[in-house]
Amino acid sequence: MSGPRPRISFGKIAYRVGAVDAEQLARARAERDARGGEATLEEVLIEQGALSEEMAALVREAFLRACAVCPDCGRRTDIEERDPSDFACRCGGSFVPLAETESDPQAIDPAFLQSEEGPVSDAGPVDAEP
Ligand SMILES: [Zn+2]
Repeated sequence: MSGPRPRISFGKIAYRVGAVDAEQLARARAERDARGGEATLEEVLIEQGALSEEMAALVREAFLRACAVCPDCGRRTDIEERDPSDFACRCGGSFVPLAETESDPQAIDPAFLQSEEGPVSDAGPVDAEP
């Protein structure tokens, strides 16, 4: 069976590549949540001056390389934290690297950049995002 599924989000990748620190990320997430989803984390980070447009573009490029999507159920996962020999999705489908279906980082569906809500694994909450 496949193990816990590593989650992916714009914020997680921004932190991984060093574009933002944990404090900037926490501040931007709080602001995004306070607005009830009217702005994306990327937009808030740029507004708050934590992220330049240029850095946001680099984060999107890194996101495109790291994200895989199950075409059957829409679940997403983080390729870089995943067992490379196991791309099976719990729904019975297989994760496909986003880069195979999307070549332009700036055109990534904003829905893909958001953190997924709710439980993502039968094994319980997995991914303690920074
Ligand atoms: Zn699936």
